[in-house]
Amino acid sequence: MRRVIVRRSSVHGRGVFAVMPLAAGERVLEYKGEITSWRNAVRRHQREGVEGHTFLFGLSDGRVIDGSRDGNSARWLNHACAPNCETIEVAGRIFIHTLRAIEPGEELFIEYLLATDDPLDADVRAQYACRCTATECRHSMLADAA
Ligand SMILES: [Zn+2]
Repeated sequence: MRRVIVRRSSVHGRGVFAVMPLAAGERVLEYKGEITSWRNAVRRHQREGVEGHTFLFGLSDGRVIDGSRDGNSARWLNHACAPNCETIEVAGRIFIHTLRAIEPGEELFIEYLLATDDPLDADVRAQYACRCTATECRHSMLADAA
């Protein structure tokens, strides 16, 4: 039985929403997609004219999971600075777990903490701006944002 669905989000594009109560610590989804290098993935998205960074999930070995290739609904998870889900890496796979109990209809969020090799000029920073409404909002999805 499906525990989450993808539909339009008021935060950004589409989002992932609970359709049943989820317990804290529950494994909800695996972040699926093709494992490749950052360079390959970014080049591919630039070539296709897709704003693809948010479909990329960084692995600890420096590669990424590209959710735009063979991905699943996890690629639609939006970022929040005070997320209700966390990502856990197990042997090169990424799993999404709830951090607290979640009610049906609530949107699921993870903290992206994206790393980028792009120079962090104003355009790049704007591209990764966070507009979540958390009081602790860092105003950026970048890992190294000051
Ligand atoms: Zn934020």
